[in-house]
Amino acid sequence: MSTAVVETEEHTALRSAVAALGKRYGRDYMTTVVREGRHPDTLWAEAAKLGYLGVNLPEEYGGGGGGIAELSIVLEELGAAGCPLLMMVVSPAICGTVIARFGTDAQKAAWLPGLADGSLTMAFGITEPDAGSNSHRITTTARRDGDDWLLTGRKVFISGVDIADATLVVGRTEDARTGRLKPCLFIVPRDAPGFQRSQIDMELQAPEKQFELVLDDVRLPSEALVGDEDAGLLQLFAGLNPERVMTAAFAVGMGRYAVNRAVEYAKERTVWKTPVGAHQAVAHPLAQAHIELELARLMMQKAARLYDEGDDLGAGEAANMAKYAAAEACVKAVDQAVHTLGGNGLTREYGLASLITAARVARIAPVSREMILNFVSHQSLGLPKSY
Ligand SMILES: Cc1cc2nc3c(=O)[nH]c(=O)nc-3n(C[C@H](O)[C@H](O)[C@H](O)COP(=O)(O)OP(=O)(O)OC[C@H]3O[C@@H](n4cnc5c(N)ncnc54)[C@H](O)[C@@H]3O)c2cc1C
Repeated sequence: MSTAVVETEEHTALRSAVAALGKRYGRDYMTTVVREGRHPDTLWAEAAKLGYLGVNLPEEYGGGGGGIAELSIVLEELGAAGCPLLMMVVSPAICGTVIARFGTDAQKAAWLPGLADGSLTMAFGITEPDAGSNSHRITTTARRDGDDWLLTGRKVFISGVDIADATLVVGRTEDARTGRLKPCLFIVPRDAPGFQRSQIDMELQAPEKQFELVLDDVRLPSEALVGDEDAGLLQLFAGLNPERVMTAAFAVGMGRYAVNRAVEYAKERTVWKTPVGAHQAVAHPLAQAHIELELARLMMQKAARLYDEGDDLGAGEAANMAKYAAAEACVKAVDQAVHTLGGNGLTREYGLASLITAARVARIAPVSREMILNFVSHQSLGLPKSY
């Protein structure tokens, strides 16, 4: 895709450099890592060493001093090469951003250099079994015990807890049990007593696993609280908007990968007189997928820019729209790519069928298609609420 009109020269250069790295690893690397039950540590370490993982983090803590615009380019290009790093969505994008914006100097010094150089990873846990899309209902509760906090609750579908050094857990303080969500964020080390995880058996072929978490009076020092216990939603959305932009990047990257594979195939595969790609019934849906991915990326660039310029409110709407557009474009692109390969679309060898499940993740997480449509109906269009 051509980018010159909407991207700076630096962005275009970053894009090609990351694309070159992605090409060296590619889909085969990811498939092997998954098959052998490993994690993409080598790619993670190399991306970190080249400054890509911490590109959004402050320079004084070893980051690149850029923003979500740059970080989303990195994830999109790795995805387009077939080797996306899902933990980028949570570790540098959510956790890095929240700590950089709201953490104490000690928290910044403890976490940001490691998140930037890839030696530390953080997971992020907000989803609960009884709250789901309705985060106002989360019940993970923090109560004071002397100077410490005791954190109790359950989380579900939390990605990468096994490999993350800590999980940034969204709870609420005890006196805010009811009413609107007054979230507070805690850094919970992986091996904290009372912090248990069990892997959920997902139908996904990805190196990052999802976990159910049980927090049973997990004792945390007062400095485990990130930011202000009353900062509330502002602080939370400081992390959630980058998450949405990054999910859009993940989806656009995957969609591009799928379309490219299908286009290569459609140029070669000949069962009548011409390659199948000459039939418009094959070509047009691929062209459509390409257009829709490009449009989704434009929205993603807008959201990233608004966020990086400090417009949290504007970024909120744009990030939701970008996540929606990218997920829908990705699901359609993957579906068409699989179809383009005929029977081969469903073989292990061609590796596209597993993307059918993977693409659906972007439609559900971190906020579902319906919740974005609700947001746009209410916030952008001013329509009344049904719930
Ligand atoms: C692979 C994967 C990785 C994930 N990683 C993380 C992670 O790292 N950290 C984390 O915190 N969470 C994570 N999640 C959880 C994810 O964010 C949730 O699955 C998502 O927010 C939806 O919540 P739910 O699954 O409880 O669905 P529910 O809230 O139960 O929704 C079920 C269905 O009902 C619809 N629905 C609900 N309410 C409404 C409404 N008011 N109007 C219309 N439709 C509605 C939804 O759109 C959905 O289709 C992950 C999920 C997956 C699948």
